[in-house]
Amino acid sequence: MSNVRVRFCPSPTGNPHVGMIRTALFNWAYARHTGGKFIFRIEDTDITRDSEQSYKDLLDSLRWLGMDWDEGPEVGGPHAPYRQSQRMEIYADIAKQLLASGHAYHCYCSQEELEDRREAARAAGKTPGYDGACRNLTEDQKASYIAQDRAPVVRFRMPDTDFTWNDLVRGDVTFAAEHVPDYVIVRATGEPLYTLVNPVDDVLMEITHVLRGEDLLSSTPRQLALYDALKSIGIAKGERPLYGHLPYVMGEGNKKLSKRDPESSLLMYREEGYLPEGLLNYLALLGWAFGEDREFFSKEEMATVFDVARVNANPARFDLKKCTSINGDWIRSLAADELAKRLAPYLVKEGVLDAAPSDNQLAILAGAVPLVQERMETLKQGVVMLGFIFADEPGSPAFVVDAAEAEKVLTADAQPVLAAAFTALSELEAWNTEVIESALRGALIDRLELKPKVAFGPVRVAVTGRRVSPPLFESLEILGRERSLARISASLK
Ligand code: GLU
Ligand code: ZN
Repeated sequence: MSNVRVRFCPSPTGNPHVGMIRTALFNWAYARHTGGKFIFRIEDTDITRDSEQSYKDLLDSLRWLGMDWDEGPEVGGPHAPYRQSQRMEIYADIAKQLLASGHAYHCYCSQEELEDRREAARAAGKTPGYDGACRNLTEDQKASYIAQDRAPVVRFRMPDTDFTWNDLVRGDVTFAAEHVPDYVIVRATGEPLYTLVNPVDDVLMEITHVLRGEDLLSSTPRQLALYDALKSIGIAKGERPLYGHLPYVMGEGNKKLSKRDPESSLLMYREEGYLPEGLLNYLALLGWAFGEDREFFSKEEMATVFDVARVNANPARFDLKKCTSINGDWIRSLAADELAKRLAPYLVKEGVLDAAPSDNQLAILAGAVPLVQERMETLKQGVVMLGFIFADEPGSPAFVVDAAEAEKVLTADAQPVLAAAFTALSELEAWNTEVIESALRGALIDRLELKPKVAFGPVRVAVTGRRVSPPLFESLEILGRERSLARISASLK
């Protein structure tokens, strides 16, 4: 057992995206590596942006990916509740204590006043930030603001010192005092902000390591200062948490991968049929390396060797092709019946089946899977390639040849080829790959003297509906004599 406590604390807004999953993974791996705890906290204090759907999607995503949490929603733990929306009294109480101890103060400045003064500071060539106007108001000044009905925000009083911390990823990082002005922790409405609730919960939940994206680097000096204040009033008990900022993830054109980029949506990966193992494997490579040039590993294997000190501070490139190819490696690594099980829900989703496959259909699928396992990189591709096997079965749509493929391949020239194939196959007594192959080769290649593409292309389209399919002879065997012959004859006009 170790005392390491890390957290994943997304805000439930919009769809889960890969950047946030990478953060979750690195925290999860660190907790598992050290034998510490992985805490899942929902930062849902912004009622205008948060949604219940997004909350559900977050839980569902972590479960789909197999990242189990030791404390958090639906699991509970010693620091429950883990949804910040249910912790409002805690924050109100702490804000009160920070005000009473002088670590925070009421600021009565209006938005326009703040903006005017920022403008003036810019014009004077100074850093535009809060100028401390309300830091030391007299009782009279306060009374006069209150008489004007001004509702104050609560501002945290930053110490006039520089802040340095030894970042676990980036080494020493320093922010000069003048770049970190006093900041708002509670709105005039009484609503606590991220600037308060995030570091407060890190303290209360005894977080030891904060691993998060580089975009949050500038909030770290504020959080360290707030930590020190909480320590001085007896709320924080342990040491300051250690911070490690994970590198940016870059998308196309060397721009930061944005939530709006299609390849950043977790949903897309689920829809296309990436395996959770494949996606996590790829995300692990964004800023970290297993070592020994090893690029194929499970999250459990990652956890055995994961160390924050080996995270690279340089921006990481997101490469969808590589992600897909690693997913293909994972698909090839599965046993046929396991892959069949993974494919099953996609058969329904892609309209190949009307309802969850029966045991019999699963068995057919497991038999057919080896035909396509080598050439599929996503489950959806596999389903498209195998759909022909289930067509015409009870619970499946009728078989149709793709119209564009038919126009290209099932031409008038193809008619004699199909006729010869039909005759050769209907004469067969046994029905297996070997005899099918020799019958078709004999009839089409030897007797009609056709090139393989011209010979087998029409048969392939007639029985599978597509030009890209699993190997032809095996496909015919799996499809069975009756349906194979029926489809060839349907293509004969
Ligand atoms: N809720 C914050 C976010 O989603 C958490 C930031 C952090 O990890 O400190 O950006
Ligand atoms: Zn003010």
